[in-house]
Amino acid sequence: MARIVDQYIEIVKKRNPGEPEFVQTVEEVLGSIEPVLKKHPEYVKSGLVERLIEPERMITFRVPWVDDKGKVQVNRGYRCQFNSALGPYKGGIRFAPNVYPGIIHCLAFEQIFKNALTGLPIGGAKGGADFDPNGKSDAEIMRFCQSFMTELYRHIGANIDSPAGDLGVGGKEIGYMYGQYKRLTASCDGSGVTGKPVSSLGLNGRTEATGHGIVFFLKNMVEANKDTLKGKTVVISGFGNVAWGTAQQLEKEGAKLIAFSGPDGYILDEEGITGKKVEYFLDLRNSGKNICEPYAKKFKSAKFFKGKKPWGVKADIYIPCAMQNDVLMESAKLIVKNKAKYYCEGANMPTSNDALEFIQKAGIPVGPAKAANAGGVACSAIEMSQNARKMPVSREEVDTMLYDIMKHIYEASANAAKEYGKKGNLVMGANIAGFLAVAEAMTVQGIV
Ligand code: GLU
Repeated sequence: MARIVDQYIEIVKKRNPGEPEFVQTVEEVLGSIEPVLKKHPEYVKSGLVERLIEPERMITFRVPWVDDKGKVQVNRGYRCQFNSALGPYKGGIRFAPNVYPGIIHCLAFEQIFKNALTGLPIGGAKGGADFDPNGKSDAEIMRFCQSFMTELYRHIGANIDSPAGDLGVGGKEIGYMYGQYKRLTASCDGSGVTGKPVSSLGLNGRTEATGHGIVFFLKNMVEANKDTLKGKTVVISGFGNVAWGTAQQLEKEGAKLIAFSGPDGYILDEEGITGKKVEYFLDLRNSGKNICEPYAKKFKSAKFFKGKKPWGVKADIYIPCAMQNDVLMESAKLIVKNKAKYYCEGANMPTSNDALEFIQKAGIPVGPAKAANAGGVACSAIEMSQNARKMPVSREEVDTMLYDIMKHIYEASANAAKEYGKKGNLVMGANIAGFLAVAEAMTVQGIV
């Protein structure tokens, strides 16, 4: 039997040809809200979903810059301001060679519900460029960021849109963008971008916030199952900001991280990845080579597996923290075969829809990205409020607020799942809770 949401999925497919990632995200989110639309026919009548699936604005622009050899390079930049029902647009900027409208649409759409789940006043957006920062000198990265901001600045601002980092965009890139934003707007109140270095009106602890938040979410999920993180073995992917923060907090909770990965393969360190080994992630990242093999040369307890993903390593918990489409069906089968106790998404869209369904059907509790990794953007909203109030927030305050926000997200997702007859299904619960918050705001704002 046809579902109400099928008509909307058809519109997205027709209107965005060649954008499978976007279609996949829409299918995932709308697939969860069918029971909500049945209960609330007014949302169907007011064309709410038709409006929700069409971005308010997609800005596409030229980013010209000159490389170290004096050669002119041209990239394409994007900012998709998808939905502002709950507040100013908010979401990261991604620099990667595979950035194209389909990725930006998909991430911006996902961001609407993630931001709604935080309970903070932020709408959904995403941006980026098809620029590969790997192998570029600092001077090239700076010139690129300055050129990118020279166009972007006219579309953003404290009450309009506040971009932050994402894949390929960390404190360094945000620092360069903030510097240029300041020059162009002649204002130095810390607005424009978040995730700024602490020296430049950034928030204490923002860099590790996403990773810490993931573990806080996971902790709530594990404790709801009358279980503990203490002594659990964990496998993650990636060694960027998200993986680094996750590794730090796992150690604090007494879990044992035994494997992580990079694009070149994975590292197995059964002694446990703790302390200075976790901090070594920063060296790996700063090397600009985007490889994890040097870890095995530095720490004798480790082994490197070239060209392989880490999902075949037996562990209690799996947390993909690297990028989208990291866990496809063959990896999901390994995770289930290894009798995983929990699966929690760290990166955005790391699991294909069929792989996620397979893991859930095996009875493994799943923490979806839009709920589990919302701590990063939540701390970005705290950074915006810190800058507006002109009062620094201490690291301790950030940590306490972050824990409370992640607990709220867990509870909102778990309660929504229960209310709609899907107890324990956090994937559906997160989509429903996020959708309801946005739908309520869109309803009172009329047909806009
Ligand atoms: N890129 C992060 C995310 O996916 C952070 C966005 C932000 O802080 O605005 O949520």
